[in-house]
Amino acid sequence: MKTTESVVAMGNTSSAGIANLFERLAKYDHEQVIVVQNRETGLRGFLAIHDTTVGPAFGGVRIRPYASEGEALEDALRLSRGMTYKASLAGLPCGGGKTTLIEHAGLRRGAAFESLGVLVESLSGRYFCARDVGIQDADLEAMARTTRFVARDPAPGLGDVSEHTAIGVWHSLRACLEEAGIRGKVRVAIQGVGSVGAKLAHILAREGMELLVADAYEERAAAVAKETRARVLPAEEILFADADVLAPCALGAVLNAGTIPRLRGRVVCGCANNMLATLEDGDALAARGILYAPDYLANAGGLIRGADYFVLGLADSGPSLARIYDRTREVFAAARAQGISTARAADVLAEARLKPRKTFRDLCWRGNVHLPALTPAK
Ligand code: NAD
Repeated sequence: MKTTESVVAMGNTSSAGIANLFERLAKYDHEQVIVVQNRETGLRGFLAIHDTTVGPAFGGVRIRPYASEGEALEDALRLSRGMTYKASLAGLPCGGGKTTLIEHAGLRRGAAFESLGVLVESLSGRYFCARDVGIQDADLEAMARTTRFVARDPAPGLGDVSEHTAIGVWHSLRACLEEAGIRGKVRVAIQGVGSVGAKLAHILAREGMELLVADAYEERAAAVAKETRARVLPAEEILFADADVLAPCALGAVLNAGTIPRLRGRVVCGCANNMLATLEDGDALAARGILYAPDYLANAGGLIRGADYFVLGLADSGPSLARIYDRTREVFAAARAQGISTARAADVLAEARLKPRKTFRDLCWRGNVHLPALTPAK
């Protein structure tokens, strides 16, 4: 198979939507963007490496029918930077990356993911990837045939990444309940009971909480409700449910100017990435007295497990996950002390931990990672 053709973006693109590339990369201090293209398999997309100052860039592969190249690039830039912030706030020895692939009619899926694996392998461990939106087990299996730098889960040793994410959310929620002074029977509304949301529901049910759940797939919500003695609500009502806590575990931008005035809970804590439509929406939550656990703080459990396993070689991430509780408290204390929203306080702490000035040498991260063997082709 022909290997993936890739170029490091040189800012000389003429397509609308990817103009001013250098300005955009400089604005958020991205290290590198690789334009991914393979004619034979139809592979198209962007691999963004935001920061490898303290370790390899970790970040998932996402595939969607993006409306334009510009939209896929923007997603890769935004999400890879978010991963660096997540790693930084969690104090992990890694940075952020992300791959966004364009789903289109000419894509030969299995071969395309094998060819993406060839590219990832060529980076020699500067970028380590895993599952993100739209990725199926078979895609990860295809990648694992050509690169060692892909995490498939559940896997022996690594474990179930979504489970780790759910446990991390629980630790963050414990801190939220203390901060908000919520005691006794706690009612939680969970939006989305997919990989993480369902596991979170089980944890909260074991903790004796009363649950309201909703999912775009009603049968999924019904199945989780049966197992956790939850009540199912229509998907369009769950955000505004009468509950102490709202746990968004589906898509991003659910907290916005249209939804925030209608929220009824006192705490928002879930796993969804980019929950806030804008940073100002974090201010709006604070103004309403709603305690917000910043998303990339609460949902760092999966990344923590990946860094513990692949970079630090740890068999158990229990203690690392429990530190999410301490960090959540730290962010709340900083927000109080500075009179800013918890969303802004998290950004301030994450930025303070990033190296203020990177040098070229920082880009050449080389270190030992604990790698699985390649999966032989069937
Ligand atoms: P998933 O696709 O398994 O689950 C998402 C669920 O939300 C699905 O069941 C889907 O049907 C449902 N959903 C979608 N739109 C909805 C709506 N409007 N109302 C109600 N339900 C809706 O995804 P996941 O892996 O559980 O991830 C959920 C979120 O958490 C995503 O934002 C993801 O980026 C983030 N996240 C996941 C992990 C992880 O370890 N999987 C780690 C960090 C962050």
